[in-house]
Amino acid sequence: MNDIVQVENLNKVFKIGKLSKMKTVHAINNISFEIKNNEILALVGESGSGKTTVARILSRLYKRTSGSIKVFNKEIPMKMSKADELEYRKNVQLIFQDPFSSLNPLHSIYYILSRPYKIHNLCPNNKIRENIINILNTVGLSDEYLDKLPHELSGGQRQRIGIARALSVNPKLILADEPTSMLDVSIRLDIMNLMMKIRDDFNVSYLFITHDLAGAHYIADRIAIMYAGDILEIGNSSDIINDPFHPYTKLLKSAAPKPESGLKPERIDTKGEIPDLTDLPSGCSFHPRCPFASDLCRSSSPSFHHFEHRSVKCHLFNNGGAK
Ligand code: SF4
Repeated sequence: MNDIVQVENLNKVFKIGKLSKMKTVHAINNISFEIKNNEILALVGESGSGKTTVARILSRLYKRTSGSIKVFNKEIPMKMSKADELEYRKNVQLIFQDPFSSLNPLHSIYYILSRPYKIHNLCPNNKIRENIINILNTVGLSDEYLDKLPHELSGGQRQRIGIARALSVNPKLILADEPTSMLDVSIRLDIMNLMMKIRDDFNVSYLFITHDLAGAHYIADRIAIMYAGDILEIGNSSDIINDPFHPYTKLLKSAAPKPESGLKPERIDTKGEIPDLTDLPSGCSFHPRCPFASDLCRSSSPSFHHFEHRSVKCHLFNNGGAK
């Protein structure tokens, strides 16, 4: 599979506070990954891990501080002409977390879905309605929704409209920022199934942002585990879920609900919270919570160790390592 996106050594820092007490937030810390053609890559992590910041950088809502982003092997510059920016946004679309606020409540579904066709000049005006009905059918809705306002739709229907809006410009990559987290559990599966069908039918790739490891396993080909702005483990979805290597991935797995057992999640024995991004720990950022932390972990940042279909950033694997 060819790469759609290649991200190398991406960094993002935010400055917060007043001049005299300015602090630096290290939101993204030198991460690299690629998204292949027709692939779903899930970025999984707790709140504050940086996963949404990655999506916002790729969608160009945030500027990166440093690092390289290539789309179709072409370097994406920090600054773009308006024409290039428009073309980029056509190829790389964003689906928002909150289907309740991502649609303008004052505009009809027809108006909302007609905007991309007009902005990107996709078809003659007399073809817009026909194309909108086609895209509505694709996401499981019909023309009876055209004149409705967003508040007349359920959360799941609104997210389908968000997906239709993204899909209308025929993008190559969709950045889906927790697209199911605000929906009822019963609807989540429908939306994920729709996204997978769209991947197959339209040859779209996704960056799927989530804190839900089980959801990531369901939808994604590969999973990247994020913590404190860093990727700690990345690999095939089934490998990561069935046999996690990194202690933090094991923690996430142990904390995930186990619907089949009806039991509450059992957390592995860790202590502490996600670190303060203005004052990251020395060495491995996970060491304050890690039951396996050694002096080496406290003083030295681990490098990636590469295995078949997976890479893991942990000193436990320095010599090939036991899991
Ligand atoms: Fe734990 Fe050390 Fe591995 Fe970090 S490098 S996850 S502290 S064992």
